Amino acid sequence: MIYEIKVNELAEEFGVHRNTIRNWINSGALPAQEGPGRRYQIQWEDYKRLCDKFGREPRIAPEPNNKTEAPSLPKNESALPSVRLGLKTNPLYSQPAMADICLTCGSCAGACPISGVDDLDPRKIIRMAFLGLDEELLASDWPWKCTMCGKCEVVCPMNVEILQLMRRIRSRRDRDKVPAAIQKGVVTCLEKGNNLGIPKDDFIILLKELGEELAESSCPGFVTPIDVRGARMLVTVNSKQPFAEPESLTWWWKIFHAAGESWTISSENWEGVNWGIYSGDYSAMRTMAERIIDNIERLNCTALLLPECGHAYYATRYALEHWFPESLNQFKIYTVFDLLLEYLQEKRITLSPVVHNKLVTFNDSCNYGRKSLKTFGHGYFEEARSLTQACCTKYVDLIPDREENYCCGAGGGAWASPFGAERVFHGRIKARQISESGAKLVITSCQNCKDQLEKSLNREFNLNIEVQFLWELVAKALVKPEEARQP
Ligand code: SF4
Ligand code: SF4
Repeated sequence: MIYEIKVNELAEEFGVHRNTIRNWINSGALPAQEGPGRRYQIQWEDYKRLCDKFGREPRIAPEPNNKTEAPSLPKNESALPSVRLGLKTNPLYSQPAMADICLTCGSCAGACPISGVDDLDPRKIIRMAFLGLDEELLASDWPWKCTMCGKCEVVCPMNVEILQLMRRIRSRRDRDKVPAAIQKGVVTCLEKGNNLGIPKDDFIILLKELGEELAESSCPGFVTPIDVRGARMLVTVNSKQPFAEPESLTWWWKIFHAAGESWTISSENWEGVNWGIYSGDYSAMRTMAERIIDNIERLNCTALLLPECGHAYYATRYALEHWFPESLNQFKIYTVFDLLLEYLQEKRITLSPVVHNKLVTFNDSCNYGRKSLKTFGHGYFEEARSLTQACCTKYVDLIPDREENYCCGAGGGAWASPFGAERVFHGRIKARQISESGAKLVITSCQNCKDQLEKSLNREFNLNIEVQFLWELVAKALVKPEEARQP
């Protein structure tokens, strides 16, 4: 059944601008053939599909015994192949508004450090989703080479939700086609409580031994608080640390010891990072966040610290806000910045800047910075600088930074993905920024940033820099109470 429509009538019916209808027709989203008198001919099924999408009852209906059925459409060799373009009910097609409001201005592509690699272009991805080219998008590696850094969204004049689309594409890929290391991390975490499958007994022994060494070296009386019921704060762990660099755990422990904090680590399901957000597995993401709530309830804690990784904080808070909003009244989530500043303001710790005489800079993490600003209403920019500068005498900012910061190149799971060359290429801007700043000590609040800067960009671009976590810097600048009291 074929009907003739006028663009302005259809626009009025669906409550959109007539240009929107023309865009749909031109793109093939609404298959139609131009007819006489500025009218278009559309199939009833396409019209019905449009009504279903907008939740509307069709204004017109096919007549049961319509004898005028199926006049042949005028042949138009240049018409878009609507079958190939797919239906606009396809899963990746989120809302017509996305492609309608996108100006194709290219600002996103201009800002994206990986744009052009393997023909990646955010504009193209938006158009392809709009055109229903789901299969092509799901098969492409673009969403996995994208680090979900959000730089494109910051510059977009129309506030197009590009990351939402990237996440949707990741989430719809078959699980056996997700980059293997990421998928393995998710599955292992679900099965064993941490991404690397570290057995409970090994974890406990390691924590105890590290605690004993710390007590002997610098924190007399220190005992690693494992499963302490009633401790104020639950502290999660990034499995990379006990696995590859266990001593790095003790930077925080020194600070807790100095501040007299009441804290604990759970012996089970202690993983802090949430790779469900990388793989697009929302069910896994939810489960991992729920486990943190379970640990908090089991140990009767009232606060949560997710140290060591910007995405641990972002992913967990995102999950809690979406699936467990009531939990946000149950306990307080600290970022590393909130907690360290609280200690300083309450004079629970004292810092000396003189132990660091190198020129220091702070590397903004996309997750703690612009993504937290956009998603939670606050990005941690000034707090990070205030803490860093409390521990050093010479400081320089990178240009640009804060909300306009460039990603290091290892976010969004890129450190664990197979696209190593793209990761390094992505990081070239950050490497140039650091080099031009003259900084020799780079402070960061994210494990992925630290790995990328220290182990990859440092070597690839001959940066000759040292990289430290913010809490390592703070722990090294701690002044003992008796020293702090001296005039
Ligand atoms: S910056 Fe925004 S409006 Fe411009 S092309 Fe990219 S998504 Fe479209
Ligand atoms: S999120 Fe970052 S990497 Fe991904 S398209 Fe946007 S700017 Fe490029």
